[in-house]
Amino acid sequence: FNPQSEVRQSAANLAKQIVNNYKAHPIVVQKSASVYDAIVQIFLEDVGTLYAVDKDGLLAGVISRKDLLRAAIGNNNLEELPVSVIMTRMPNIVTVKYDESLLDAAKKLIHNHIDSLPVVREVDKEKDMYEVIGRITKTTITRAYVELLEI
Ligand code: ADP
Repeated sequence: FNPQSEVRQSAANLAKQIVNNYKAHPIVVQKSASVYDAIVQIFLEDVGTLYAVDKDGLLAGVISRKDLLRAAIGNNNLEELPVSVIMTRMPNIVTVKYDESLLDAAKKLIHNHIDSLPVVREVDKEKDMYEVIGRITKTTITRAYVELLEI
């Protein structure tokens, strides 16, 4: 029994897992939805981040808890304010493709100081057109870590 090589083996297993097998269901709102509705949604779905889509269902933005808090401070008409005004927009969204590794996803979360990544399928890369098919969060990575290292 060599504990060091066993840990190395587990770490290697974790690193090569594919995003598609670990992704969670994405919680999506229309980009025309109000900030008020987004706040209700974030509580109902018990998530930290919502993804906004356009009328064709393509990824348009990311809305985090802090984005919503910032919008709520000193704004008393949240039902009239569309999330498109406050969201982080394409092309500034960090995404992960379904066939990338969990290690790549974890690095993107860390390097960009964010909590979640939309898992996407490319529709037209040139035009920044992506379909959202899941989400990877820090919880996803933590769960994979526990599942793979618990012997
Ligand atoms: P919070 O702001 O609630 O702590 P995050 O740390 O995930 O949550 O978000 C920080 C900022 O980064 C927010 O303005 C959010 O819109 C933005 N953000 C979150 N996820 C992404 C992403 N995948 N790509 C680009 N920007 C993102």
